[in-house]
Amino acid sequence: MILPGAVIGVLGGGQLGRMFAIAARRMGYRVHTLSPDADTPTGQVADVEIIAPYEDLDAVRKFSAAVSVVTFEFENVPSATAEAAATHAPVRPSGSILHTTQHRLREKTFLSSAGFPLTPFLPVRSSEDLREALECLGRPAVLKTADFGYDGKGQELIRLDSDAEQAWRSIGGGEAVLEAYVDFEIELSVVAARGADGSFAHYGAIENAHSNRILDVSVSPARLPPPVAAEAVQIARGVLDELGVVGVLCVEFFLTRAGKLLINELAPRPHNSGHLTFDACVTSQFEQQLRAVCELPLGSAELLRPAAMANLLGDLWRDCEPDWGAVCAFPAAKLHLYGKLAPRPGRKMGHITAVAETAEEAEAIVRSARDAAVCIAARK
Ligand code: AMP
Repeated sequence: MILPGAVIGVLGGGQLGRMFAIAARRMGYRVHTLSPDADTPTGQVADVEIIAPYEDLDAVRKFSAAVSVVTFEFENVPSATAEAAATHAPVRPSGSILHTTQHRLREKTFLSSAGFPLTPFLPVRSSEDLREALECLGRPAVLKTADFGYDGKGQELIRLDSDAEQAWRSIGGGEAVLEAYVDFEIELSVVAARGADGSFAHYGAIENAHSNRILDVSVSPARLPPPVAAEAVQIARGVLDELGVVGVLCVEFFLTRAGKLLINELAPRPHNSGHLTFDACVTSQFEQQLRAVCELPLGSAELLRPAAMANLLGDLWRDCEPDWGAVCAFPAAKLHLYGKLAPRPGRKMGHITAVAETAEEAEAIVRSARDAAVCIAARK
């Protein structure tokens, strides 16, 4: 067991590492972070911020020599980085899990060969492959780069055969996956944790609404028939067990109009849809990650009250700084800002959560509080 007072290493410098570091420091741990940037969201709350490219394996080895365990908040680190980190400290979840989940084709191949339900897909490595895959899967279909895709980046919807060439060019060629388009009823996720001893904790089904392929609003519990939510949790448990995860992993699902659950993708770390656990659950997803990687018993994942979360993207800064006073005028709204300086459109800058008597009420609060944040100049 890695006990409070020990140093935890976090690869990556974003908001997930920031909230992990807040949870770890609250429990008396020290946090070191390594990423290529300075003054990162994680670095601002960590004890030590190391600025080095992930490819600087000497810096990664030195970083891991100073910590008791390495975890990450950014899963697209090269395999060599995870291997270098493992020379001095355990890496949790392991580099092999990163390797599987950072590449859509490997992830989907793993899921389908283990018998998990997912959208039909085909590998695409040339425009010829793409033509054949479209014939096989039909239209519409979604073309996605195999590597390094997140928040809808590197994705093109193909409605007509004549869109194919343009889509292939726009994702930049290379290795890709074509997926059948899913006519879904809703999107949901299950965030869950697994300990080294196989123990398991989950936050139930969380309902997710996306805007421009980026998560917009999450609501917990998801408004679903209980057997569907239970089935999603069972599938998620199977995925964590099959991968042998030690840490937190999120499974994103589509629920089709025919009532079938299909896995969209995996994230081997705390997830945006689980941010509401910080304010709404006995143990947040970040504390759960800490407990799992430190081999502590997992905490209760109980949801204390229905909750909702609304993301704050850089677009909100269109004309001027959002009106935080107006957000705080909603007494039930909790404002989380990540300390990022450049509010680019589509960039996740923060979020608002609220708990309430019902999921509908919580959702109404976060949506209204976010609307109130739109600065005066933009409202005119
Ligand atoms: P991803 O980055 O793969 O999670 O995709 C981002 C979002 O795009 C998803 O949450 C969906 O809203 C949408 N999307 C992705 N793939 C599909 C698909 N095969 N069918 C329908 N919508 C999709």
